Amino acid sequence: MPVSPDAYVLPEPLRMLKQTVRDYIQNEIVPLERELDPEAIAIPKEHYERLSRKVKGMGLWCPTVPQHLGGAGLNCFWEAVIHEEMVQHRAGLYLPGYGTFGYPPPPVSWEYGTPEQIEQFVKPTIEGQRHAFFAITEPSGGSDPARAIRTTARRDGDDWVLNGSKIFISGALQADWGLVFARTDPQSRRGISCFIVEKGMPGFTWQPVPVIRPYYPAQLFFEDVRVPHRYLLGEVNKGWDILANRLLARGRIPYSAANLGVAVAAQRMAVDYAQKRETFGAPLATRQAIQWMLVDSEMEIRACRWLVWEAAWKYDSGEDFRMEAAMAKVFSSEVLMRVVDRAVQVHGGYGVSKWLPLERWYREARVRRIGEGPSEVMRMVIARYLFSGGQGAPVGA
Ligand SMILES: Cc1cc2nc3c(=O)[nH]c(=O)nc-3n(C[C@H](O)[C@H](O)[C@H](O)COP(=O)(O)OP(=O)(O)OC[C@H]3O[C@@H](n4cnc5c(N)ncnc54)[C@H](O)[C@@H]3O)c2cc1C
Repeated sequence: MPVSPDAYVLPEPLRMLKQTVRDYIQNEIVPLERELDPEAIAIPKEHYERLSRKVKGMGLWCPTVPQHLGGAGLNCFWEAVIHEEMVQHRAGLYLPGYGTFGYPPPPVSWEYGTPEQIEQFVKPTIEGQRHAFFAITEPSGGSDPARAIRTTARRDGDDWVLNGSKIFISGALQADWGLVFARTDPQSRRGISCFIVEKGMPGFTWQPVPVIRPYYPAQLFFEDVRVPHRYLLGEVNKGWDILANRLLARGRIPYSAANLGVAVAAQRMAVDYAQKRETFGAPLATRQAIQWMLVDSEMEIRACRWLVWEAAWKYDSGEDFRMEAAMAKVFSSEVLMRVVDRAVQVHGGYGVSKWLPLERWYREARVRRIGEGPSEVMRMVIARYLFSGGQGAPVGA
């Protein structure tokens, strides 16, 4: 039976959407960004308002938030495809479009939220009036949160009383509420619950954590913070299900698509520059040493795209996607590092100057092998599947 060539191309509406996002980033964000400080993490308010109105008009506000909550309702695969485009500018790895696509709260907040929680927190955040963070990692560790979470929540009348600290929490400096995972059953490794915590609650303080990227995360401190019981997300002692099954694994797919997108942008710059820059009387592109670097980057990028898409397809089909998401995450973050490194090398001194986005990508790419599940932990996840004899058995087995 002949195979339709359509099987290997994206559907036309998705290709059009991808092109729309590419045009938006290249025509609106990139020129604006050239005027900003190389470390900028925001665009001026008037531009933010103008551009977010434009994105809403394009139907791309909060791409994966369900339509009934005010988002575009895209599935994971469509999100992966457009995310690759959304990030292709200097600040894009962490701040796609400088937030002009919206800053939705974590999906678990509407999947598990009560109608009151959705009205009070989720909807205003989707509308852009509020901002949220999610806080899992603690000074005691982030790779193995089931063991490392030491922040406690103790029931006291109608409240829970939180004590402890979280570290490296992205967006917490800008946010006004967030999801905080705390231990509610000290006897059980998975006795964790998830709470909505607001800035302004007495005993809740924070400070920036200076890191390699300009978008600093924060350390949070909870000292007898009283959180009303109605702010519990999901059920008591069921926070692990929210965490492991929904929040972390699903988030690795757009995270990987972002790694891919920045790698694509760096490779495009390197291929372009190699054709223009002449040394020893000929363009760099004619030198085998340069060609091989760029060929390796191209092959890795293309392999990476299939891993990201496979993880997204599996998620959308309702199958267990966790091994594929781990593969996409570890491979994309490592490919990103190598591709950006080669692009810096091809650009010589300009590669490490702040006139080009490469040096910021080079620094920010380093975080990608640690955040959202470090490479070693992702490899542990994949190994667990490989040796379980189940769906993670080696291909062809
Ligand atoms: C910029 C930034 C932003 C972040 N944003 C957030 C956020 O918004 N919310 C949040 O909750 N967390 C956030 N994190 C935290 C991040 O998820 C953790 O840093 C990560 O999970 C690793 O935890 P850790 O730093 O405590 O390292 P550890 O858990 O102490 O691990 C240290 C190293 O040992 C490796 N390792 C661990 N176990 C093993 C093993 N069994 N075998 C081999 N190697 C192993 C790890 O891979 C890692 O390289 C952020 C981190 C950074 C740097």
